[in-house]
Amino acid sequence: MQITTTAKIQVQVLPEQRELLDVTMDKYRDACNFVASYVFQTHDLKQLSLNKALYYDLRKRFGLKSQMAQSVLKTVIARYKTILENQHEWIKPDFSKPQYDLVWNRDYSLSQEFFSLNTLGGRVKLPCFTGGMEKYFDHERYSFGTAKLVKKHGKYFLHIPVTTDVPESLDADICNVVGVDRGINFVVATYDSKHKSGFVSGKAIKQKRAKYKSLRRELQQRQTPSARRRLRAVGQRENRWMQDVNHCVSKALVESNPKHTLFVLEDLSGVRSATEKVRRKDRYISVSWSFYDLEQKLKYKAALNESSVINVDPRYTSQTCPVCGHTEKANRDKKKHIFCCKSCGYTSNDDRIGAMNLYRMGINYLAMDSQVPDTVVPQHI
Ligand SMILES: [Zn+2]
Repeated sequence: MQITTTAKIQVQVLPEQRELLDVTMDKYRDACNFVASYVFQTHDLKQLSLNKALYYDLRKRFGLKSQMAQSVLKTVIARYKTILENQHEWIKPDFSKPQYDLVWNRDYSLSQEFFSLNTLGGRVKLPCFTGGMEKYFDHERYSFGTAKLVKKHGKYFLHIPVTTDVPESLDADICNVVGVDRGINFVVATYDSKHKSGFVSGKAIKQKRAKYKSLRRELQQRQTPSARRRLRAVGQRENRWMQDVNHCVSKALVESNPKHTLFVLEDLSGVRSATEKVRRKDRYISVSWSFYDLEQKLKYKAALNESSVINVDPRYTSQTCPVCGHTEKANRDKKKHIFCCKSCGYTSNDDRIGAMNLYRMGINYLAMDSQVPDTVVPQHI
C-alpha cells in the first residue's frame, strides 16, 4: 500500500535571488491562466494537442523553457480534472497566487541543506531548513513527487508530496484492538486487548479553546479591517495549535501500541453524529473539524506502523452495557459520570464505556469472516 504525506519546508532566498524567483513564479502563474482560458473554450484536456496548440505561445509570450511549458500544461489539466470530478461542470480555475510546480530530479532537487531549482534565469541553489524530515531522505524508502513552490507573506515554501510503500495490514495479523473514543472532557479515552483503559485529559484544551473563542468573538464585534485581519490570523493560529495537539495524541496512540493494532473509532462523518457527541455550548465548527483531523492523522500514522483504523456505527456507544449488551439511556448518569447497567448492574466510570464498546465492536468486526462492511453495527442492536 502506498501512502503519501505532504512535507512543507521553508526556503531561504537571498535578496538578489528574490526577483528571479518571483518572475519565474509570476510567469508560471500567468501561463497557467492563459492555458486555462484556452481549455475553457476548447474543452481540450490532452497534453499532446495542447502542446501543439500552445507551445509556441508559452515559449515566446511567457518566455518559459520547454520543461516549464510542459509543467504548466500538466498543472492546468490536473486542476480541470479535479474540478470536473467534484463539480461535474466546466468552471474556469483562477490561478491567482504566484506558484510553480516542479518535477523531482528534473526541475528541482533537494538535499538536507539545499534546494535547487530551474528558473527562467537558469539553475538556482538555495539553503533550506529540513529539520524533522530527515527520514524522508532515505530514497530507498521514500520518494518525492511533484513539488509546489508557493509564496506566503513574503516567504517561500516548498510543498513536497512524499510517498512510501508499507505492507498492508491484514485483519488476520491483528494482535491488538483499541477502542478510541473522542470527546471533550477527554481528548481520547481508550480501551485495549489487555483490558487497560487510557485517557488523555481535555481540560487544558477546553480552556485554550474557550480563550480562542472569546478572542474571536471580541474581534468579530469590531468591524475594522485590522480586526478582520487579526481574526483570520487568530483562526490560523488556533488551527495550527489544534493540529499540533492531534499530531501528539495520534503519535502517542500509535507508539504505545504494537504493530498490527486495530484502532476502532466512531464514524462521525454524519453531521448529526458529530454534533451529538458534543454538548450544545461546545458545538462550534472547530470541535468536529478537530475530531476529523485527529482521525486522518491516526489513519496515516497507523498505516506507517502496519496498523489500521476502522469506523463503526456511533449510535448507543455511550448507553450500551459493555458486559451484557443491554442498551438504555438511563444506564448512564451524565451528571455523576457513572455508568450503571439497569440489567446486570455493571458499574464503571462513564468515560470508559464508549471506549469499551468501541473495543467490543472491533472484536465483533474481526469475528465476522467474509465481506466486511465499512460500518459495523453492534450485534446486540
Ligand atoms: Zn449489563
